[in-house]
Parts: sequence; structure tokens; C-alpha cells
Amino acid sequence: MKKILIFTFSFIIINTISGYAFGETARRYMIITNSVFCKTAPSSDSTDMETDIGFGSVILGEKVIQNETDFDYIKLSGKKDCYVPLEMTIEVPLVSFSSEKGALSSENGKDLPIFFVPDDLMPINKMYSFGDNRVLAKKSILKDLYAMLSDAKKNGHKFYVANGFKDLQVRIKEYEEAIRLNPKQTLVPKPVHSSSATGLVIDLTDNVTGSNFEYELKNDKAWKWIYENSSRYGFRTSGKSYRFEYSGERSRRKPKTDKIFDEAINKRIEIPSLCTVHVLKNSTNKRASFIWVHHNEKSAGKTLKYALSKYGGHSIYIINGDKRNVYIPYNRRSYFIDPNRIYTPKGIEKYLDRHHRKLNKNGRRSIYKKAEKLKDTILSSIDWTEKKYLIALHSSRPGSDFSIEEFNAKNSYLTYTNPDHNPKNLFFTTSLQDYYFFKSRGYNVVYQRSIEDDGSLSIYAAKNNLPYINIEVVEGDDKFQQKMLDLAIECVNQHFKEKSL
Ligand SMILES: [Zn+2]
Repeated sequence: MKKILIFTFSFIIINTISGYAFGETARRYMIITNSVFCKTAPSSDSTDMETDIGFGSVILGEKVIQNETDFDYIKLSGKKDCYVPLEMTIEVPLVSFSSEKGALSSENGKDLPIFFVPDDLMPINKMYSFGDNRVLAKKSILKDLYAMLSDAKKNGHKFYVANGFKDLQVRIKEYEEAIRLNPKQTLVPKPVHSSSATGLVIDLTDNVTGSNFEYELKNDKAWKWIYENSSRYGFRTSGKSYRFEYSGERSRRKPKTDKIFDEAINKRIEIPSLCTVHVLKNSTNKRASFIWVHHNEKSAGKTLKYALSKYGGHSIYIINGDKRNVYIPYNRRSYFIDPNRIYTPKGIEKYLDRHHRKLNKNGRRSIYKKAEKLKDTILSSIDWTEKKYLIALHSSRPGSDFSIEEFNAKNSYLTYTNPDHNPKNLFFTTSLQDYYFFKSRGYNVVYQRSIEDDGSLSIYAAKNNLPYINIEVVEGDDKFQQKMLDLAIECVNQHFKEKSL
């Protein structure tokens, strides 16, 4: 039987004890949810301890313990076995935090009081509000907002405002719900940082997308119009594709954005409380598409940018809060799954056996379905055929086991090693011809000789006869990966030249 410990936090809460020294490494955290639980160990499996600390309480933390599968936890100072989820707090500076003003910095760098409510909120005209929603926004944005929506309509695109100003309680509730479903989620901002407090931010939707606007923005033409024109009315997109922030600054040109990643947007497909699949095209490339699978692999991301600026084409990447694994919520917990292990039914089954064996039948089915949904979204979005390569980009952590030696030891792979190259930098191929190409150029290369179904993209490629090259480097070696990418493009070109002979 689980024993619930009643625990009093009174002497850890230091709202009133300013400047109290609790050891050099202690940091202060303010609670940003309605109530908080404390765990006996830094994992969701451990026992809950009841607390009576709620929004605004300040606690002292000794260190943060990272947890791959659920929350990261703060170990409370001077207390044994007491851990609070980091996501339920924000760190407050030891010196400059002023509780009288209650000012905390917001996303855009401007300080807003925690309980800030804009003074000139107005309901948005029913004609433009979505469904029965009563949406509030600052009066000062309405003229430009209506002008934008009315011009959109004249161009054949009807848009509605689904969300506007949200008060603190609503933001806390939405945030609590989001982290309950997925402790590692990044879609819903912390309530004290939310730009929804300003009254200057609105979420748009259209008739086709409807109330599923967080899920998938359908009706591409309409969204293209709004992205291209919103800056003329003083709005800019802010992070999410359906979210617009008013600054009043107009530009005749498109807003200044990251040229490769933002201007060429075709669509962003949001899978609620999982991740976003970003599909983009930057001019045409008939022979290769690109994929960046793991959002934490920053060198791979940089190489994707390089690939698109140099070779153009179709690409896809998973926006996943800088994390490798995608977290799938089920029954008040979340279950991680590697987005490179979902491309065959057997692969998903194997992964669940290995990592989530304790999951019951319904849970397993639910996680399976979500993983499959992600797989379907990716595979149906990517431009990959028998006549077009997919080039996958990965970068591994310096401390991980991944290297050419790992493949040398296994029978199912044929390998070539260049002793002068970093063993973590390698080409991974599913065609013998490609293998010999890279070998002849003196690069580490692995050929997947037989199919050991782990649900990865390389297995999917081999099973479906789709041309595929994976370029792996150690994190930080992006210049080297760019060189490897140039070589891969050479390999692709040679492949098609030979085919056409
Ligand atoms: Zn990877």
C-alpha cells in the first residue's frame, strides 16, 4: 500500500525571509501552477507527498535532476527525498526578483506584472470570432485586425479569431493540462511567460481547419495569403503558424525571417501534445529530399539548412522542443518513442516491448496508434520515390556508443573504415553501389546488408526499394557533415547518370 506522507513546507517557503542564505548552490524557484506535488524520488513512479504550496510560493532548490521520460525534478534544499517538477516552477533571480512589483520578464523581454490585465480589452466582432467563442483583444489592434480579415475575405479566404487575451487562471489551467499530458511539452508556454497576457496576440483559424487548428492547418492557399500579408497590417506570426502578434509596425515587404526555414514554408502539421512536423520546399530538386529526424541534433539541423540553400528541394523535420524522443501522453503519464523507430509495425512493437513493457493492452494500443500517426504524417509528407533519394541527417553525442566500430562488430553490416576519420562520422547506405562510391572516396561507410527490422527509416527504405543515404557525424562537426553532404549529392547524381545511360 502506498503511504501518503503529509509534509509541511513552511520553512522551505521563503516568501517572507529575504536574503536567507541556504548554501551557495541553492537557487530560488517560484511555483507557477495552482498546486504542486512533491515526489519521494525524481521520477513519476515514486510516491506523491501532499503539499499546500500553490501559485507564487518560492522554494529553494539544490540541483536539477534530469529525467528522460517524465519531468526534470528540483531537489529541494536541506530536505531528503523531496523533488518538485521543474516544469511547475520558474527560476527567480536571488537578487533582482521583486515580490512587491511581482514583475517577471515575459517572452518578448518586456516585464509584465504576473497578474497583468490590459486596460482596454474589447470583445472581437462576432462576425470574426470563431464559433461561440467570446474572444477578447486590446482595442488598439482591432482596426488593423478587421482590415486584415476583411481583405482576406475579399481574396476568398475567410479567417476567424479563435483565441485572444487569456487571463492568468486560464493560462495556468491550460498549462497544467498540457504538462499533465506531456511533461516535456513545449507548445503551451509557462503561464507567467505567456504572450496571451498582452491582448496583442490572436490565434486564427478558417472554415476548413475549424476547431482542429492546432492539429493541421488545412486550406493551404488561405494560410499562404495570411503569412504573406499579415505584416502589412502590423501582425507577425509568433512561433506557431496559427498565432499572430500585433506590433503595429507595417512593412510592405515580407517580414524579416530566417530565409531558408521560414519563407519557404509549405505547411506545419501539429500533432497535439506530441510534436510538429515541418514540411518545406525551397525551389526544386528532382533527385533528393532531406530529413532531419532528431530535433536535439543541432549539427544535423545546420546541415539541413546548408543543403536547402545549396541544393534546394523538399525537406521535412520534426519540431520537438530540442528533444530526441517524442513523448506520447496516455493515462496521466507520457511514454517516449524514438521518431526513427516507427516506420514498420514490427519496429514499433519491438520498441514498445523494449521500453514500455509494463504498459497495459489499451495503453499499448493507444501509444502504437499515435506512433503510427506520426509515421503516416511523415511518410505522406515527404517527397520520396524510387526515382528520388531521401538523405537523412543525424549528429550523435560525443559520449554515445555510436560509431563505425559498433557496425564492424555485426554481421549484418558491411563496413569500410578510414582510420584518419572520426569513427562517429560515417555514411550509412542501403545500396551496395552507394557503399562502393563512398568507400572509393575514402570515407567511413556502412552498408546495411540484411534487414534487422528495428523500424528505422533505413529499414523502410530497403523494404520498399527507396533510395536512401544517411549521413552521421559527431555533434559539432557540421562543416564535415556539409562536405559529406556535397559528396552524397555527387553520389546521387552519379546514380541517376548511370541509370539514364
Ligand atoms: Zn539522430
